[in-house]
Amino acid sequence: GVKVDSFGIEESLKELAQLADTAGLQVVGSTYQKLATPNPRTYIGSGKVSEMKSAIHALDVETVIFDDELSPGQLRNLEKVFGKDVRVCDRTALILDIFNQRAATHEAALQVALAQMEYQLPRLTRMWSHLERQAGGRVKGMGEKQIEVDKRILRDQIGVLKKELESVRRHRKLYRNRRVSVPIPVVSLVGYTNAGKSTLLNQLTGANVLAEDRLFATLDPTTRRVQMKNGKEFLLTDTVGFIQKLPTTLVAAFRATLEEISESSLLVHVVDISHPLAEQQIDAVDKVLSELDVSLIPMLIVWNKVDKVSDPEKMKAEAKSRGNVVCLSALNGDGLDDFCNAIQEKLKDSMVWVEALVP
Ligand code: GDP
Repeated sequence: GVKVDSFGIEESLKELAQLADTAGLQVVGSTYQKLATPNPRTYIGSGKVSEMKSAIHALDVETVIFDDELSPGQLRNLEKVFGKDVRVCDRTALILDIFNQRAATHEAALQVALAQMEYQLPRLTRMWSHLERQAGGRVKGMGEKQIEVDKRILRDQIGVLKKELESVRRHRKLYRNRRVSVPIPVVSLVGYTNAGKSTLLNQLTGANVLAEDRLFATLDPTTRRVQMKNGKEFLLTDTVGFIQKLPTTLVAAFRATLEEISESSLLVHVVDISHPLAEQQIDAVDKVLSELDVSLIPMLIVWNKVDKVSDPEKMKAEAKSRGNVVCLSALNGDGLDDFCNAIQEKLKDSMVWVEALVP
């Protein structure tokens, strides 16, 4: 990272590594450099470029991710230096990959596709100037014309997508109220990336996942079925985590991936209470939630990673005094029983709690 802001470089790089992990990549290392302004050609300085080139070859790196949005020219120049087997991308492209993997509804998929196309539009140049070089300049100008054609095609596709999105939205508004209620309550986990949502999901389920169950064959990989001690069940679903530096161009796509939570019976806001910025993260999540159509859905707050705080007992007492908060450690399982009881309590107040599935 080059920019220095209130959100520190190291913290930001840590988050980037977490995002890469979420996208299914294995992070082998990270580095940064402080510059007054980014290098217009390569973003980082030339010394840093060669240092990275050696590291890339030594560690057999396949992907290099920059924490800021790079210009098409910078991406092209870096790819030239690092070699054609190395993919160079930026934070935005990485986040788009994650959204793409996680878009669960048709609307979300459309919104993400739209963001991907809009991201591509200014970057089209790349492919064609490359072809021009290969042709040894004989076809100069050809590439330029082709870029214009490609851009037009992409713009047309963007137009079509936007229309489709509009119609999907209209349709959803019309039909939402008529939906048949789910036979089993859905509990959605929301919260910052790294708060411990997927750890909690795995801790609660694991052995409880019934692979043969027909009814749940269509569940996406981020949804699990949880059976509680009293035999009652609910579906627990993980959502795309919040990110500190979400590029503004991706806000709409992010919201769309979250929209499915408006169908849940209960929201569980998972907080990493050991994080120094926990308070700000809670506010940021609440702000986005208040803009989604979820104000009527009951919410339970989880203070996770209580094993990491200096005085866990005090934290637990504080949580208890607040009422709506459960303190736990998703990692070692401490507090999970309280969590299940709290969920049961919450779901009792809410709508569907069908016992038909319990033998
Ligand atoms: P997600 O992005 O919200 O899904 O977060 P993850 O479940 O991937 O967890 C992020 C990191 O925090 C992982 O390294 C987890 O092992 C760690 N983690 C999750 N829960 C706890 C916890 O209760 N205590 C501690 N110490 N670490 C945790």
